[in-house]
Amino acid sequence: MTATPLRVPFNMLRLGDERADIDAAIARVLDSGWFVLGPEVSAFEAEFAAAMGAGHAAGVNTGTDAIALALMALGIGRGDEVITSPLSAAYSALAIDMAGATPVFADIDPERLTIDPAAAAAAVTSRTRAILPVHLYGQPADLDGIHAVAARHNLAVVEDACQAHLATHRGVPLGKESAAAAWSFYPTKNLGALGDGGAVTTDDAALAGRIRRLRNGGQVTRYHHEERGVNSRLDELQAAILRARLPRLAAATAARRRLAADYRARLANPALQVPRECDPGHVYHLFPVLVAERDRFQAHMRAAGIETLIHYPVPIPRQPAAAVWSPAVCPVADRVTTEVVSLPLYPSLPPDALAEVAAAVAAFSR
Ligand SMILES: *Cc1c(COP(=O)(O)O)cnc(C)c1O
Repeated sequence: MTATPLRVPFNMLRLGDERADIDAAIARVLDSGWFVLGPEVSAFEAEFAAAMGAGHAAGVNTGTDAIALALMALGIGRGDEVITSPLSAAYSALAIDMAGATPVFADIDPERLTIDPAAAAAAVTSRTRAILPVHLYGQPADLDGIHAVAARHNLAVVEDACQAHLATHRGVPLGKESAAAAWSFYPTKNLGALGDGGAVTTDDAALAGRIRRLRNGGQVTRYHHEERGVNSRLDELQAAILRARLPRLAAATAARRRLAADYRARLANPALQVPRECDPGHVYHLFPVLVAERDRFQAHMRAAGIETLIHYPVPIPRQPAAAVWSPAVCPVADRVTTEVVSLPLYPSLPPDALAEVAAAVAAFSR
């Protein structure tokens, strides 16, 4: 038996009309003879900070490092607890661990699918130093609720914005109301490099300066290490590629929002629950739906030639790697991970492909 050919892939990473700009950016770096932490990185930092509405950006190696370095620069580490969401890429929690601190999981809000501020409040202990909300799928977390908890307990807030480039919370750019925001430029992200990359944005010049020092081994001047940093440098090629792509991010984000609105208008199957858009600043990194019979749904979609993926199949605290941390009580995340499944959505998704996905969803019967 041969499988149905794939008609609608989950994502499309092949370069589109930005190819010539990226070729030119790469050629510029090759000609310069400077490959790590140079003028392209500095220029990208300034351009990215401006685009995200932040005072400063520090380029680092990955989104994971961006979270870890933001926490380290805030003085958070061994013996400290950081409250985060059980429903995310495991890297959110692994970054807390990398900083030397301990992740503590607070359950998610069943509508927003991001951390529930009441659960976060209940998870605070005398060791808690920060909250790391995750703007999951591109939807801003309930930052009002989170900042209320943080203010009550004198906690820092670092936002995991790795899926949420250009998203806004009540019209305010992400990171603006917190100590810092962490971004990933992994190739599948809304702003992707052609390799790994990440950044921290902040309005605090001293914090940005400390992150720049920490990413470079803690050096202040060459070979003089003021503190124990890490090696998390952004390279010139990725910075130049990101500079070539950044001017297209707003249009790509608008395309994601249009496609999501189109899905919302067309998906009326009662077997599926489409999570509500809780903030118009949602940037749709992914388009998840909830289906009780998920295995059968994915097989049905695959038979129609449509690829779907699960974000995420296991709550982070249920991963074997999480056994070293305190057990988590997160019944909402437990349920969501058994039902959630993402439909194809990327800026160049053709309208007829979206119509095919919608038709296949409509043909799924309970
Ligand atoms: C991608 C991602 C990360 C990690 O980013 P990397 O660049 O892969 O290290 C962290 N958190 C979330 C929510 C992500 O989607």
